[in-house]
This record gives sequence, structure tokens and C-alpha cells, in this order.
Amino acid sequence: MNDAELKSWTWVMPDGHSSNDWGLYRRRLEALAERRGWELVTLGTVASEPLLMLRTGAGSTNVPHLLVAGGFHGEEPAGPWGVLEYLEHAPLEQLSRVQLTVLPLVNATGFRAGTRFNAFGENPNRGYLGLPGENPSREGVVLLAHGDPLLEAARDGLLTCHEDVLLSHAYVYSCEPADAPGAFSKSLLAANAAHFPLHPDGTVDGCRVTDGLVFNHYDGSFESWLMKLGVARAACVETPGQHPIAQRIAAQRAMIEVFTAGA
Ligand SMILES: [Zn+2]
Repeated sequence: MNDAELKSWTWVMPDGHSSNDWGLYRRRLEALAERRGWELVTLGTVASEPLLMLRTGAGSTNVPHLLVAGGFHGEEPAGPWGVLEYLEHAPLEQLSRVQLTVLPLVNATGFRAGTRFNAFGENPNRGYLGLPGENPSREGVVLLAHGDPLLEAARDGLLTCHEDVLLSHAYVYSCEPADAPGAFSKSLLAANAAHFPLHPDGTVDGCRVTDGLVFNHYDGSFESWLMKLGVARAACVETPGQHPIAQRIAAQRAMIEVFTAGA
């Protein structure tokens, strides 16, 4: 673990609230679910904080089933806020054409503290596949216990919303059952590139990145787990933490729109 991983990262949002305001986040999410009649359930708790899941949309099995998940890492707040803003503004007509399930903020203790890992120093995006030296976090244990419903929810696509706090370039990890990236990967990359310069070719976090994309990389992450279980495609989008928080939230929201509209 390096210094950046131990540090607390928070930003002041355009409305004056702090990016780690979990109380405000929950109030807005609960009010939205209530207003729209969307089901908001608690999958489990970690340090007394709920791990929430929201279901919107058709409630039909004949439409694409999509899962969006944010807030695995607490120093990456644009994901959860982007998810919330997407849901608050999403055209209901768009939502009616899919079955969208959302894990808006997986790591509440990390989010509140502005730290990458949870309050127990665990990484909520590792340990899903039992790789050597990796144990699931407490959040991971909760999600692993819901494998069947999460697989069903992500059947036709998974999007996870991350940030890279140290960078000023954006990039995307994507997995598709193909030798080369298709429209799914390219549309998310284009939406990210509309907001930020893309990462130069080379390596990022030990992975080969080409044209801003890390393609078909597998590790012990949530997205690798669900791909192994059989979801059709998955992406993990990364916005750069060195840019203003409002711009990062807007980019996250735009990528969720592209993901949902393209299904
Ligand atoms: Zn992350």
C-alpha cells in the first residue's frame, strides 16, 4: 500500500457539500427511490452501514438486464455521485427499455473517510475469485453471498464506476467475448474521451493500455468474477482525479447513459 492509498481524498462539490457526505447521499437516494417507486434493498451491512441495491425499470425478463456499481473505492467519489445524478435525471423512457439494477455505493465506510479501502483496511474490489493472497473484503463477502441475483441483474452487461486519483488522463477496462474491442468498449471510451484526454499507450496499474483501453484483463475484481460467472460484457471506467469533481461526475453520468442506451 502506498501513501496515496492511505490518504483521505475529498473534494468540495459545486453545491458546497463535501464529496464524502454519505448522509446527504443516502437522503437523496432514498428520496429518489421513494419518488419513483423503485425498490431499494439492503444486501448486508458493514460496520453498521448498509450496502444498498436499487432496482429500476421494466421488471421484465425480455429486456436487457444491466448492472451499474460504484463506490468500491472511497477516494473515487465521482462514481457514486455520477450514478445518483444519472438516476435523478434519467429519461424514464430509457429506463423502461431495460432492467437496470444499481449498487450505488459499495464501500460506505471508505467513502465517508475518503479512503480507498474500507474501515478495516480491506480492498472491496479484490478477493472475488479466491486468487492466492487475496481474501474478500467485508463488502465482498456480502456481494459474493448474492452471486445468483447479481449475475441475473448483470446478465447483459456490467458497468463499474471508478476513478484514478493520481492521474489527469482517463481510461477504461473492458471485457468482451471477442479478440478485439467492439461497440460496447468503444462507446464508453468515446464518452470518457469527450471529457478528458485519454491515457497514453503504455501501462497503467501494470496493465497494457492502448488507445485508452485495457482490454480483456482478468484479476480478482468484482467485474472479473461476474464475467467468469457468465455476464455478456463488463467495463470498469476510470475518471482522472486530477480534474475538477464536477467534470468527473458529469463524465461518469454520461458513461452510464451510454451504457444504458446502448444495451
Ligand atoms: Zn477504484
